Amino acid sequence: MSEFDLIRRHFTRAMPNALLGVGDDCALLQVSDGKVLAVSTDMLVSGTHFFADADPYLLGHKTLAVNLSDMAAMGAVPRWATLALSLPYGQSISYSLPHPEGEGTNDSLREIKIDDAWLEQFSAGFFALARQYNVDLVGGDTTRGPLNLCVTIMGEVNAQQALRRDGAKAGDEIWVFGKLGDAALALAHLQGKAQLSDADFAACASALHQPQPRVALGLALHGIAHSAIDISDGLLADLGHILDASGMGAQLEFADMPVSAALKGKGALVQHCALAGGDDYELCFTAAAHHHDELLCLARELNLPLTRIGKVVAGTGCVVHDAHGATIQLESGGYEHF
Ligand code: ADP
Ligand code: MG
Repeated sequence: MSEFDLIRRHFTRAMPNALLGVGDDCALLQVSDGKVLAVSTDMLVSGTHFFADADPYLLGHKTLAVNLSDMAAMGAVPRWATLALSLPYGQSISYSLPHPEGEGTNDSLREIKIDDAWLEQFSAGFFALARQYNVDLVGGDTTRGPLNLCVTIMGEVNAQQALRRDGAKAGDEIWVFGKLGDAALALAHLQGKAQLSDADFAACASALHQPQPRVALGLALHGIAHSAIDISDGLLADLGHILDASGMGAQLEFADMPVSAALKGKGALVQHCALAGGDDYELCFTAAAHHHDELLCLARELNLPLTRIGKVVAGTGCVVHDAHGATIQLESGGYEHF
């Protein structure tokens, strides 16, 4: 199959949001009156962000979901995406799971093949989510190479309503939607760093493989949140970006962190997964305290657990207290590539 057949077959669908989409040198896109373009790129690299044998349907979902999560965190309406793919097409890839402590690798080599059936599943997962959020895939690039998936997402937002990182104010309450740490717990299990029962693994695996972007929440926070971010590298690392950008500090209560039944009672893993685990794709935001009750109502409407985890204070840094008021020291921050 030629590159162009592959694009036509797997990555060309209806594009009602575009003046011109896949097939020309550029896509032509019209931004609505009064709105600005919100643009973000996220790349998923085999071996770093996912195991090469990941279910291709779920991988298609996640490739778009992590990008939609950035739209949610900005309070933007997602409309268009491009997809740059590097594919070891037609090749079998052997790989081994990383060793729990990072020294060497496990002996068991696994093999997968990136072929038409794989692409069929990948694009089905991608487009199912794209349809759900009314996003058109309007272009991209396709080359042969190591498995690498890169989406640029574009959306619209009123510039005054965008949920930026630099707006947190002293006295703001800090909120988190959903649960923290489930994706990191599932990953720890896959890496042999934690042993979960089948039921516990089933409960947290969907957080890792099929994160749900909180786009509706991001839009609902217009006029309420002073700042927002999506948690992709761990709560402390990502909240840290808000605090740095806003020139503020924070005090958090560990007892208030929303953790799932699967994670509760897992000892040191609870702190690690909830505070520094990656891949949550839940929103963390700050809002003035007088919005407290309104936010709890909103959470009931969206049927999501919304939890106040602490407050913004003047100063720098983020202090986490345990149930006895003592400061929790974490060994590592969030995920860092370099
Ligand atoms: P160019 O030569 O200008 O780089 P290409 O030949 O790479 O264009 O791509 C042809 C068309 O297909 C372009 O419109 C491009 O945006 C689109 N395209 C390429 N790869 C993908 C993909 N993976 N998904 C969606 N569209 C793609
Ligand atoms: Mg090209």
